[in-house]
Amino acid sequence: DTLKVKHNYQSDVSRLRKIVINSLYSHQEIFLRELISNANDALEKLRLTALTDKSVWDGSDPLNITIKSMKNEDGKGGCLVVADTGIGMTPEELATNLGTLAKSGTSDFLARAEGSTDATATGNLIGAFGLGFYSSFLVADRVEVASLPPATAKNPNPQQHVFTSSADDSTFEVYPDPRGNTLGRGTEITLHLKPDASEYLEDATLSALVHKHSAFSSSFPIYLFERWTEEVPEEIEEVTPSETEATSSETAEVAETPKADADEDEAIVEDVTIEEEAKEPPPPKMVNVTKEQWSHLNKQPPLWARDPKNVTKEEYDLFYTTFFKDFQRPLAWHHFSGDAGSGSAFKALLFFPSKLPEEYWQKPLEYKSKDVKLMVKRVFITSDLGDQALPQWASWVKVVVDAEDLPLNVSRETLQSNRFMRQLRQLIIKRMIQLFTKISEGDDKAQFDKMHETYGSILKLGAVEDEKNREKLAGLARFTSNQRNETSFDQYVENKKKGQKQIFYLAEIGKKPEDLAQSVFIEKLHARGYEVLLLTEPLDEILVGHLRQWKGMPFQDAAKAGLKFGDEDIDPEEEKEQQKTLEENFKPLIEYLKKEAGDAVRDVVLSNRLVKSPCAIVAETGGYTANVAKMMAASNA
Ligand code: ADP
Ligand code: MG
Repeated sequence: DTLKVKHNYQSDVSRLRKIVINSLYSHQEIFLRELISNANDALEKLRLTALTDKSVWDGSDPLNITIKSMKNEDGKGGCLVVADTGIGMTPEELATNLGTLAKSGTSDFLARAEGSTDATATGNLIGAFGLGFYSSFLVADRVEVASLPPATAKNPNPQQHVFTSSADDSTFEVYPDPRGNTLGRGTEITLHLKPDASEYLEDATLSALVHKHSAFSSSFPIYLFERWTEEVPEEIEEVTPSETEATSSETAEVAETPKADADEDEAIVEDVTIEEEAKEPPPPKMVNVTKEQWSHLNKQPPLWARDPKNVTKEEYDLFYTTFFKDFQRPLAWHHFSGDAGSGSAFKALLFFPSKLPEEYWQKPLEYKSKDVKLMVKRVFITSDLGDQALPQWASWVKVVVDAEDLPLNVSRETLQSNRFMRQLRQLIIKRMIQLFTKISEGDDKAQFDKMHETYGSILKLGAVEDEKNREKLAGLARFTSNQRNETSFDQYVENKKKGQKQIFYLAEIGKKPEDLAQSVFIEKLHARGYEVLLLTEPLDEILVGHLRQWKGMPFQDAAKAGLKFGDEDIDPEEEKEQQKTLEENFKPLIEYLKKEAGDAVRDVVLSNRLVKSPCAIVAETGGYTANVAKMMAASNA
C-alpha cells in the first residue's frame, strides 16, 4: 500500500469526467469503440517502433485485441476486460496520459458542454469531440488499467503498473501491479460495470457492438471470449468422477491470449466442463456442455480492401464515423483502386466530411491534413505526407490508402520524398475533383446543395490556389446573378445575349446579392437584359482576377470603365452619333462638375450605363475597386 501513489486529476479531466458521468446515458455504448481505438493506436505504435528497433517486437508474439467479460458469481454485475499487446505505458505515462487532457480544443469543448442544458446537443458535441479513455466511466464505477511497456535499451526491466480510479473520485492511484508482470506486454483495462451497464457482459451485445463500430476499422484481430452451452451425446467426453463433481458453470481458465495465427477459422481455445452429472451408463444420454472459445470478430478484410459492389452505404457511413472519429456521416465518398506508377497498386477510400473542421477556416494557413492515412498491406505507416502535403484547399479531405507493393519497412522519411507519394497526391486531388463533379452532375439535389453550402468557398479557393486545376474547380463553383439564384461560368456563357463579348460582374464582399442587384452600376445592363454576376464572397473577385476570361469572354467589372454592350440591334454608327450629340449637349455640365469636384476624382465623363440614377463613381479600368483596395489594406496591416 505504501507503494500506491495518489494523484489528483488535472482540473480539466475532473470537469470532463463530470460531463461524461452526468449527461451521457444514451451514448454509453461508445466506450467500447474508444477503448478499441486506443488499443489499435497502441498496437500501431508498437509496430511502427519495431520497424526501427527490433528489440521492441521481433514479430514472434501476436498483436491483437481481446475482450472478455466476467460475471460475478452471484450473477449480479461483473467486469469487462479489454486488453491489447501494444506499446503499453510506464507508470509516468499512466499518470500523464490518463490523468491529464492534452487534446486541442478541450477548454472550448468543456465550456460549451457545461453550458448546455440540451442533452442531445451535448451528446453531439461529445460525439464530435471524442471522449477517449474517459468514456469508460459511462459504464464503469471503477476502472483498473494494468500496463507493461516492452523492454528496451532505456528501460530494460519494465515493471507492470496499475492505474485505478473510481467514477466519483477526484483522484487516481498508480502502483506496481501486485500480480507481477502478468501481461507479456501491453495494456489491460478492467471495467467494473455499473449495475445499469450489465448488458455489456453479454457476448452477443459485445459482438454486435464490435461489428457495428470497430470491425472494419482495425487492422489487428479483435477476439471476443465467447461462451455457450451445447447439448452433446455423453460418450464424446471421457469423464472422470472428480470432474463430474464440478457442476458449476465456471470453467477452468483458458490460455491468456489467443494464438498467433489470426486467420484460423476454428476455435482457438476450447475448454469443456460437464454441467450435469451422469448417473447411469448407456443408453446414450445428452449432456449440456459449456463451450468457450476466442472468436475472431473482424475476419472480414477492412472495408477499403473489399469490392465496392458488396459494400452498403450504411457500412461506408459506419466505417467513416469510427475510422475518422467524426460524429456526422460523410457527405460523399469515393472507393477506388489504382496504380501510383511502377506497379504500386493500392486501394483507397476518400471521404468528404459533411462539415469542415472548425480550425480550418480559423487558421487556414496553418491547417495541416492529419487524415490521409497511408497503410502498406493493412499496416498503418503514416498520416504525414511530408513534402507532398495536400494543397490548402484540399487539406481537409479524409483518405485511407492501402498500398500492396511497398516494402513494409520503408521509412517514413523515404516515403515522403518518394515517387509513390507524389503520384498519390496527384491522384487524391484528381479523385476529389471527380467526386465534386459527380455530385454536380448527379440528381441528388440535397447533396448538391449541401456540397455548395459546405464546399462552395473551397472550390473557389482551389481555383485560386491550384493553377493546374483552376479551370476545373472554377467550373464547379456557383454564383448568384441578377437573373438566377445559381449559375456557373459555363451556364453564364450559354445564356449570354447575342453579340455579348464580356462577362459582367459586380463585386462587394459581405453584401447580399439582392442588394447588389439594386446597384446603380448595373442599372443599364439589367435594363438591357444582360446577366450580371453578383459576387459577394471574399474569394470571388480574386478568382475572377486570376481567370481573366472564361471560354474566351473577358470578365468585366460593372463598376469599372470599359463596359461594352455589343447589342446587335443597335447600329454602332448610330450609337456613336448619339453619343456625340449627348457629349455636345452635356459639355457645360461636365466642365462645371470637373471644376467643382477638383482632385476628388480623376475625371468626369458622360456615362451610358445608367438608367435611373443621375451619376455613379467608378474605378478606372486598371485600378482596384474599393473592395480589393480594402482587402489589400487588411492583409498588409
Ligand atoms: P486519444 O486516444 O485521443 O489520445 P484517449 O483519452 O483515448 O485520447 O487516450 C489518452 C492517451 O492514453 C492516449 O493518447 C495514449 O497515450 C494513452 N492510452 C490510452 N489507451 C492506451 C492503450 N491501450 N495502450 C497504450 N496507451 C494508451
Ligand atoms: Mg483514444
